[in-house]
Amino acid sequence: MSRYTDASCRVCRREGVKLFLKGDRCFSEKCAVDRRAFPPGQHGQTGRKKPTEYAVRLREKQKTRKAYGLLETQFRNYFDKAAREHGVTGQRLLQLLETRLDNIVYRLGFASSRKAARQLVSHRHILVNDRLVDVPSSVLRVGDVVRVKERSRQLDTIHASLRVASQRPSVPWLDLDKTTLTGRLLEMPLRESIPTPVQEQLIIELYSK
Ligand code: SF4
Repeated sequence: MSRYTDASCRVCRREGVKLFLKGDRCFSEKCAVDRRAFPPGQHGQTGRKKPTEYAVRLREKQKTRKAYGLLETQFRNYFDKAAREHGVTGQRLLQLLETRLDNIVYRLGFASSRKAARQLVSHRHILVNDRLVDVPSSVLRVGDVVRVKERSRQLDTIHASLRVASQRPSVPWLDLDKTTLTGRLLEMPLRESIPTPVQEQLIIELYSK
């Protein structure tokens, strides 16, 4: 399986926004966006021409794709699926991204980043409805229960992640029992309860050209 391997902080600097790709480092003074608030590369500090409308839309799509750690084809497939379904395409796109298992594990705080969540899932530490699931892209349905496997509950990384997660905004559509490390998807998230700083309308405009 191919995956995105560029340096995480470089991605944030390119998009000019904190995408929280590195766990506790993102909340520390080491955050590269806080220290060097300009794009990476030779011409990063020299200023650039005013971006075209296309460039603005492209960057918004790239920002969203990278925040969720997806490759172009995967992201495009989610968009196509969202566009085919009933409802508001932008909200549906975000719902598809948010209900991926790796994202839910991240939102519940079992992992400090989506990348770490993907690893937790693929290393077989996570149960969905009491069955082992090791596919990070699995999409959950309302009512599904996500649990850390009993033998994995003592992992230091999970408890450290829960401490970091307390600094992130919580979401009302997930319920978490920290004692049993169990979470439940209570409802499909509405746009206003998805704390991802993107303008999904720009993505729709980009792909609708
Ligand atoms: Fe982005 Fe986190 Fe790196 Fe800051 S520390 S630039 S938020 S990945």
